[in-house]
Parts: sequence; C-alpha cells; structure tokens
Amino acid sequence: MAGQVAYIGLGSNLAEPKVQVLQALQALDGLPYSRVMACSSLYRSAPVGYLEQPDFINAVAQIETGLAPRELLDALLELERKCGRTREFLNAPRTLDLDVLLYGGLQHHEHGLTVPHPQMHLRAFVLQPLLEIAPDCVIPGIGTATDAMRQCAGQQLERIADAV
Ligand code: ADP
Ligand code: MG
Repeated sequence: MAGQVAYIGLGSNLAEPKVQVLQALQALDGLPYSRVMACSSLYRSAPVGYLEQPDFINAVAQIETGLAPRELLDALLELERKCGRTREFLNAPRTLDLDVLLYGGLQHHEHGLTVPHPQMHLRAFVLQPLLEIAPDCVIPGIGTATDAMRQCAGQQLERIADAV
C-alpha cells in the first residue's frame, strides 16, 4: 500500500479509558486504505484546562494511510461519534479523542483542520508517546519532538507498563 505516514493522538478519560484507547487502535487499523504500523505504550496524564475530571489515558499510533488529510480527520471524528463522544464544552471529559498530529511532512491549515496539530508541541502526553515510536520525529514548522519535549518537562505523565 503506497500511502502517507501519519501520527494519530488518542485520548480518553471516561467509560474505561484503557479499553476505549485499545478499541480505537483496532478501529484505526480498520479504516479504509489504512493500517497501524506502530503504537506507543499507554500513558496516564492529568487533565488540562478543566481540572475537575478523571485522569486521561493517552497513546500515539503511527499509521500508513491512503486517505487524504480531510478524509482521515472525518473518519476519526466518525469513530469518536461511534464511541459516544459529545462536545459539551472546551476541555470537557471525553470517551474518545482522536487527533491528526502529523501527516507526512505536511503543513496545512483550513477550516476545522490544522496539521501539524496546533497544540501537539506543547503537550507531554503527545510528545512522550510520539518519541517512543518516532525518536527522530520532526514537527514541521516547529522543530524536533525531542526539543519540544524538553519544554514540557514539568508536565506529569506516567507510562503504564504492560497495558498493551
Ligand atoms: P482537542 O482535541 O484539541 O481537545 P477537539 O477534539 O474537541 O479538541 O477538537 C475540536 C476540533 O478541532 C475538531 O472538530 C476538528 O475539526 C478540529 N481540528 C483541527 N485540526 C485538527 C487536527 N489536526 N486533529 C483533530 N482535530 C482537529
Ligand atoms: Mg480532538
């Protein structure tokens, strides 16, 4: 399959978050013209913004996909909907969050879709799992994921051993 390599951020903090993330990984592998090439460990992170909610479980998957960026995002939002996600307010708890972090070397901005994901370089819960599966990763327009991670060193993150 000739496709682009993309990285997907997964997160959940409701309804058995580990199960949500593991099922989402399987669902990613089932997307049209797509397969999961690698997946990070699961990580536990404290909520950001709105603090009165459970911890999050996060992971990052590397996929190869024949879907265009917009098609990929639409497929991810559809998976979120299937998992019962509602958008009540910014930073609200969620059963499943799926983000397009990187899509090849693309830098792109349109209504509802920005690649690289505009906050990814600020979030340890994205960068740490990303570095686990892509240690030399470069974020277009930003720099290396390693350098970005140094700026996030104060953010609490716990790797969950043997979850996958
Ligand atoms: P967040 O993931 O930042 O917590 P949401 O999941 O609620 O926020 O996303 C809100 C909107 O962000 C989505 O409806 C989507 O259109 C938009 N968006 C823009 N760029 C991206 C991206 N790269 N990946 C995922 N969603 C994106
Ligand atoms: Mg999202």
